Amino acid sequence: MKLITKIVEGARDVLPSQSYKWQFVEDIMHKQARSYGFREIRTPVFEHTELFERGVGDTTDVVQKEMYTFLTKGGKSITLKPEGTAGAARAVLENGVYNDGYPIKAYYITPCYRYERAQKGRQREFHQFGMEVYGAGSYFADAEVICAAKSVFDRLGIKHIRLELNSIGCQNCRPKYHQALKAYFDGHKEELCETCLSRLDKNPMRILDCKSPVCSEIAKNAPVVLDYLCEECSSHFDGVKKCLDAVDVSYTVNPRIVRGLDYYTRTVFEFISEGIGTQGTVCGGGRYDGLIEELGGQPTPSLGFGMGMERLLMILENEGIALPEPPVCDLYVIGLGEQAKMKAFGIVEGVRNSSLIAEGDIVGRNLKPQMKYADKIRARFTVVIGDSELETNRAKIRNMQTKEEKEVALDENFFTEFFAMYMESTNASLLKMMEGV
Ligand code: ATP
Ligand code: MG
Repeated sequence: MKLITKIVEGARDVLPSQSYKWQFVEDIMHKQARSYGFREIRTPVFEHTELFERGVGDTTDVVQKEMYTFLTKGGKSITLKPEGTAGAARAVLENGVYNDGYPIKAYYITPCYRYERAQKGRQREFHQFGMEVYGAGSYFADAEVICAAKSVFDRLGIKHIRLELNSIGCQNCRPKYHQALKAYFDGHKEELCETCLSRLDKNPMRILDCKSPVCSEIAKNAPVVLDYLCEECSSHFDGVKKCLDAVDVSYTVNPRIVRGLDYYTRTVFEFISEGIGTQGTVCGGGRYDGLIEELGGQPTPSLGFGMGMERLLMILENEGIALPEPPVCDLYVIGLGEQAKMKAFGIVEGVRNSSLIAEGDIVGRNLKPQMKYADKIRARFTVVIGDSELETNRAKIRNMQTKEEKEVALDENFFTEFFAMYMESTNASLLKMMEGV
């Protein structure tokens, strides 16, 4: 087979045999978000470039190196969203969602685009589940958001994941810390990478997050932000920790975690898994009390997180957590001959209306290949309709597991009779399962 082209580097297909895993995980996300009082927000996959330059920050790797930016035919600069926060914040502001009162709690599941070196756990198109809270300054909000993220891991049965926590202060205490950092890194100017050199004046905290081995080695001995927190930031951080303690959420304080944007404030956190290699951070979040103002709104304390779907699925695989594969077919109706196939078609449609899963032949197969196909899709029941069944208006439904057969009428009673059989067998297998427990 010679295809004219292949998938773009750094993107992945999710094939029909695998998509149930995504759906299962997404279902849990929707459910957990709802139980924490969040509602979904959907924003476009592209935005005006300046939104990300301001909303993500022009000293970040994302904006400096990773954005998919292009000019429209009208000459406007557009960027594919590299993350979910900026678009959500824009939508909330633009649509006056704040008129509904605070707090605003929104979540999203969205594709994101970053031009990065594609490798394990790092793609150019990937997906994020994210939660955002606007208009909540209390440390209870920080703890709530952290618990919400954790609840997804818990519901999925993930065990080997740790929470790292830090506070990076606020506009009042940050300048002093910046000064100390700058003084420290000034002493290592010759060794720093070019990007970090350019960050030295504007945002030295970014250097702490640099992935280059030399820079991160230097960063190890840099001054620690926690030593520079003001009274208010200190007690806010204590509040977050106390809340987490109160609900037995364990964490370690890691002063090396930064989200080094000027408008990121106070709490920052990461959930990290050891089992999936160097790209172990599956979720990163924190407080960005300056973001809404940066985008042109009123000062609004805000916070949230982004969780990488692909990394989450890698963790599930690594921990050997098998997600339940949904049934593909409850009843396969085999029709033999034109007339019987038409009858089968009607029955299949009827069963589907009762919300069970039914299938019939749409390929034009004979008896044997239809049987084979029913086996392949693991149909729980089958029924064969041929000339004699048409004549008597009766047919045998076969339970493919127990091989039991039951004759039913091929009229309006078919559905109730099949449904009864279906329920009986479901109960029987439930009972069996419970006995095994
Ligand atoms: P990293 O340090 O791994 O580059 P990041 O700090 O750039 O991560 P965030 O912007 O905080 O990541 O995004 C939140 C989450 O989204 C990450 O924790 C990760 O799970 C996921 N993520 C980020 N970039 C990618 C990518 N290129 N491919 C797959 N997942 C990603
Ligand atoms: Mg990154």
